[in-house]
Amino acid sequence: MLKNILSPKTCANCRICCIFDKYDVWETPVITGELKDKLMSSRPDLKFVSKGDSGAYIFNMEECWDDKEEIFRCPALDPSKGCTLGDDKPFDCKIWPFRIMELGGRQVISVASICPELYSKSLKMLCDELDSGLSDIIFAEGEKNPAIVKPYEQGYPILKVKKEN
Ligand code: SF4
Repeated sequence: MLKNILSPKTCANCRICCIFDKYDVWETPVITGELKDKLMSSRPDLKFVSKGDSGAYIFNMEECWDDKEEIFRCPALDPSKGCTLGDDKPFDCKIWPFRIMELGGRQVISVASICPELYSKSLKMLCDELDSGLSDIIFAEGEKNPAIVKPYEQGYPILKVKKEN
């Protein structure tokens, strides 16, 4: 989805967004009920836990902790090949490092500074990409699946605020 500004090769070599420490494990991708049902038949090795009463899920990360490196690895991550879900990646992953968040009752799109590739690009380039139609897609998905909208986290620069209806 971000192919104009982030090449699949760059992502395949990085994978920083598929690894979580104790402090950013809240960033694990949200999985809609529909996607969970699809993955349960195609990927019985993956386990899910419900995300409160939102109707959405996250991966069960209990067995993904690496004691030595003190990180969680996404269970869909193959250490040598990268993400194994292809087009069935959660929406969160398709737009990362853009994040959809909620601040003061409004949806906002921010960017995660941890992504070395995108964070090194100019703000104009990131905003132009959002203005080329991407922000409409992201806000529409947030409307359809509110569970993907995370509470605003300090330190995430806000690039776009959703217009009020
Ligand atoms: S689902 Fe794929 S892209 Fe998303 S965090 Fe897991 S391995 Fe990474």
